[in-house]
Parts: sequence; structure tokens; C-alpha cells
Amino acid sequence: MAGSGSNMKNIWIIANWKSNKTIAEALDWVSKVGPAIPKRDGLKVVICPTFSCISEVKKAVTVGNFPLMVGVQDLSPFGVGAYTGEEPAKLLEDYVNLAILGHSERRQNFGETDEMVAKKAEQALANSTIPLICVQNEETPVPEDCKLVAYEPVWAIGTGNPDTPQNAADVAKKLKQKYGGELQVLYGGSVTSQNVKSFVSQENIDGVLVGNASLDAEEFIKIVKGCEE
Ligand code: PEP
Repeated sequence: MAGSGSNMKNIWIIANWKSNKTIAEALDWVSKVGPAIPKRDGLKVVICPTFSCISEVKKAVTVGNFPLMVGVQDLSPFGVGAYTGEEPAKLLEDYVNLAILGHSERRQNFGETDEMVAKKAEQALANSTIPLICVQNEETPVPEDCKLVAYEPVWAIGTGNPDTPQNAADVAKKLKQKYGGELQVLYGGSVTSQNVKSFVSQENIDGVLVGNASLDAEEFIKIVKGCEE
């Protein structure tokens, strides 16, 4: 089992639903996945739904007492105030534990820059929300005080063509050398129940960020179980 005994390490499994699922679909997923997740300290399973589903998902997780955390896929770089259309960390902190920041789809489609990612990370940190910074490689800057990173090569996202576990582990190791040993590094890009174990069994990889394969409840349960084998 990953993370047993004295070598216990955290395993993060983060579901990025992107712009998918109605509230009814989201609640159906939670009702299937919630009871199937083992309760164990180092296993950190996070659902990142759309903003419109967050309060209902949070309620379902709380009522079911499921070992699931809730996250967002983005955050405002500003605080509360006159910022039309933005979702500030301050107003989300009662619902979420984590924020995915700097995802390549935001960088490509919404012009997100490293500077904007740093401002969003500051907002997250000031409002009890863990920033998960997405990087292309060890050259992408990780803002100060951020301790959770996802290495996501853009060519591996949604393509069915994952990086090799060895290369992902090399990048993770370089990131840890650069930012310090307490940095936790996840891999993301075409992770499935078939390949998840090959990534999380690498010494320097602390979990996975999962897009497409997280949408299906049965497949996601298999991904979690695959990490626990
Ligand atoms: C992602 O978008 O973060 C991702 C990893 O997507 P997929 O798993 O679909 O490649």
C-alpha cells in the first residue's frame, strides 16, 4: 500500500472537473465516491467542481461525513470588492480547502500570467486555502510559501499520452531540489486507473491531478483504490 508504515507519505488525488457537471450530476458522483474512499490520514482526496456546484458539494460531503475535501479551479487575484465576475478567496474559505492555480488551460485561454498566479496564491494563503500551483516544468516559478505543486506537461493533458513516470519523477525531484524538501509534487496529464500506481509509487511524486478520468465515479474510485494497493 502506498504510504504505509514508517514511509508514510501523503497521497493527494485531486479531481479537476473543469467546466462539467450539473448540480444533480455532481451530487450523484459524491453519493457514489464518498462512501468508497478509505479513511486514512495521509490520503487526501479533493474534488474541484465548478463554482456553481461548490456549496451543494460541500453540503453533501459534510452531511455524508465523507473523507473528501473540496477545492476550486481558480480564484480572484483580488480581495472582496468591485471586481465584477471574480470569486475571492475570502468568500470561498468556508467551502474550500484548496485552489488549483495557474492551470495551463487558464494560461492558454484566459491569458493568465505568472504574476497573476502569484497574486492568486497570496489570496489563497491569506484565506486558509492551500494553493496548488500548476507548472510546465521546473522552470515555471512557484510563488513564495506555496508547498503544493502539480507538474502538468501541456502535451499530456487530455491527450491520452501521459509522461513517463520516470520523467515525471525527475521533474518532481528537480522541483524539490529547487524549492526545498517539504514541497509536495503531484503529476497530472492523462492519469487513469491503469497508470496511476506507476506515478504514485515514484519516491518524489506525492499524488495526482486528474481531469477527464475524474468525471466518472467508478473510474475515480478505481484510481483511489489503485493508489492504495
Ligand atoms: C488536468 O486538466 O489537470 C488534467 C490532468 O487533465 P487530464 O487528466 O484529462 O489529462
